[in-house]
Amino acid sequence: MKTLTVSVVTPDGPVLEDTFEMVSCKSEIGELGILPGHIPMVAPLSISAVRLKNGDDTKKLAVNGGFLEIRPEKVTILAQSAEDPHEIDVERAKRAKERAEQRLQSKQDDIDFRRAELALKRAMNRLDIVG
Ligand code: ATP
Repeated sequence: MKTLTVSVVTPDGPVLEDTFEMVSCKSEIGELGILPGHIPMVAPLSISAVRLKNGDDTKKLAVNGGFLEIRPEKVTILAQSAEDPHEIDVERAKRAKERAEQRLQSKQDDIDFRRAELALKRAMNRLDIVG
């Protein structure tokens, strides 16, 4: 089976570099299923799960936005944060979700609203990935 090299980098440093048969992720232009030989492209990444597949094995990462660069033999993900499910602190994510929900309920200005919306998305993404 052909493979792609996947590299995930955050401001804290490299998170992962390994080979996989397929990458599934959500970009701002829609869901992408990337196989070796994919046409080159760059896309903004949504706050979502990245799925890295080898046979029946799927590795999931919670990514917090960023960019995706696809080349036929390599996928590079530059994200603000990227967490393996084992690294996710569920209680922290629940607290972040509650804080964001409270902020969204209280009528604050647009900037705070957008910020709270993004915080809520990050927390819900983390909780989804943990399952
Ligand atoms: P919080 O309000 O709890 O800080 P946040 O969504 O604002 O959450 P981020 O700005 O996305 O946090 O992330 C800051 C750093 O903290 C990143 O390194 C990220 O990986 C880590 N992080 C945030 N939330 C969690 C979590 N629930 N479990 C593990 N790491 C987390």
